Amino acid sequence: MADQDERKRYLMEVQTWLEQVCDPVFEEAITEVDITSYITRTQEDVLEYLSEEDVNEYTLEEINNAVRHIDKVLKERLGDDGRERESIAPGKHELPPLGYSYSALEPYINREIMRLHHSKHHQSYVDGLNKAELMLQQARNTNNFDLIKHWEREASFHGSGHYLHTIFWEIMSPEGGGRPRRQLLQQLQKDFGSYEKFMMHFSQAAKKVEGVGWAILVWSPRSRKLEVLQAERHQLLTQWDTIPLLVLDVWEHAYYLQYKNERDPYVDNWWKIVYWPNVEKRFEAARMLQWQPY
Ligand code: FE
Repeated sequence: MADQDERKRYLMEVQTWLEQVCDPVFEEAITEVDITSYITRTQEDVLEYLSEEDVNEYTLEEINNAVRHIDKVLKERLGDDGRERESIAPGKHELPPLGYSYSALEPYINREIMRLHHSKHHQSYVDGLNKAELMLQQARNTNNFDLIKHWEREASFHGSGHYLHTIFWEIMSPEGGGRPRRQLLQQLQKDFGSYEKFMMHFSQAAKKVEGVGWAILVWSPRSRKLEVLQAERHQLLTQWDTIPLLVLDVWEHAYYLQYKNERDPYVDNWWKIVYWPNVEKRFEAARMLQWQPY
């Protein structure tokens, strides 16, 4: 009986992994990696093969093997080195090295711009983010949140600066140019009409950002589509390249009718209705994405 329970537990884990593996993000991994004994080509096949009613047909060893295979696929897919990324402690961000020389993007971006942009501007975002994280840590340790607005602003401004520049360096290369291929091209065509229309939209968004900022192509895991956005001043109290997990609406419409202008009791009471299983689900899905830490 205990054996059967254990099988069942493994099977549930396997199914969770399979759902993650079979997500469109991992489609390529499924078709390219040979996991012939346990995983066939489609999600339906796999789920049918390992359906709960058939749990007794598999030995623990078979299920364990399947678990190992799936784990391997996921890790190969998610981390370049197949290992889970280490997290960055507060104040420990570093300037990522450029994958090419400062003059490599000439004549389109000259050496002097690249040198200043990377070694001075980006470095100052790294320094500012580190400082903000340490100050927020200090606030938690001393329970003194008097300056929280200031340091959250700093964390957003410098955090967005650091994360966006880290992406920016990586999405350029002296070997760049041309057009995207495969799934990205198909998705651009689907969401924008054609690659040319996407380019026009993105260029116009970039040219017309008011003041300073960015044009950003984003993927929405919710609507499962691509969108072009403008990020004026790049922070506006967000950190681009992060994923929201737990959100609390403190617009007055969310509490005024009941609490009048008393936001504090609303916030304090709100904790009694937070549904953590959903936050956990979002966290587990978000954790699957692993970029190189800097
Ligand atoms: Fe910049």
